Amino acid sequence: MKRLATLVAAFGRQYEAELETGELLLCFPRAKKSVFACGDRVEIAITAPGQGVIDKLEERSSLLYREDAFKQKLIAANLTQLIIVVAVEPSFNPELLTRCLCAAEDQELKTLIVLNKCDLADRLDEARERLAPLTAIGYEVLELSARGDVDALARRLPGERSLLVGQSGMGKSTLTNALIPDAEARTREISAALDSGKHTTTFSRLYRLPEGGSLIDSPGLQMFGLAHLSRDALEHSFIDLRPFLGQCRFRDCRHEAEPGCLLREAAADGRIQASR
Ligand code: GDP
Ligand code: ZN
Repeated sequence: MKRLATLVAAFGRQYEAELETGELLLCFPRAKKSVFACGDRVEIAITAPGQGVIDKLEERSSLLYREDAFKQKLIAANLTQLIIVVAVEPSFNPELLTRCLCAAEDQELKTLIVLNKCDLADRLDEARERLAPLTAIGYEVLELSARGDVDALARRLPGERSLLVGQSGMGKSTLTNALIPDAEARTREISAALDSGKHTTTFSRLYRLPEGGSLIDSPGLQMFGLAHLSRDALEHSFIDLRPFLGQCRFRDCRHEAEPGCLLREAAADGRIQASR
């Protein structure tokens, strides 16, 4: 029997699928090569009680994906919003943050940067300064403490399919637990189902929100390869560069040392940030 389901946990080639009834199944892809992401809508053939095989992928409205020289990884599908968690301490990698934003822009997702651990007042200004280049071009930063009040973030979740990403140590687990009261219990259940007790934090999982919408928590990121983006897509993923694109003297300008490069001119006179 074929049933429609949403993949709510992804661990390697094992998935937990949620049927429309709310029933959970442990699922495997039928084909060796097929890869699915947390949040995917799929057609499942039930093979045994509590188990199924994934037969078909429904069309995705978005896919967050990363690729570098060594690895490709599907992060999550059918998202509407990317929430990137950084912290006052330890210091975060600004390039990683920019890469996450580019990936989100490429998929036309809403974005939100969460600056966590704002209770660490000594270093708050320093963190704000590191984010200033992004707020200057319109990115929103929500300041909070995952250990304190997370309402400001909770209010941004209803009706969205959000993904939480961040380097490890930024407080993403603390934040997830504050937002989703039964997150830890769910993680234990999934770990038992997927038989991966020792890897409890290394898989993505989707939580339904009581107010509607869902939140996907993903493993800590150390890098975010954008090798899958074409040159054109990559340029357009820098939102502040968009007004300047396509106007260099040479059509195929690489914005390196070509004469008549508008991007370099704009960077030189401060219309765009040189670091971008
Ligand atoms: P993850 O690796 O991103 O999941 O980070 P964790 O949630 O495990 O948090 C890393 C460390 O930061 C832990 O020691 C947390 O207790 C701490 N932490 C998380 N949120 C806050 C916060 O709002 N303020 C402070 N001071 N520490 C926090
Ligand atoms: Zn150029």
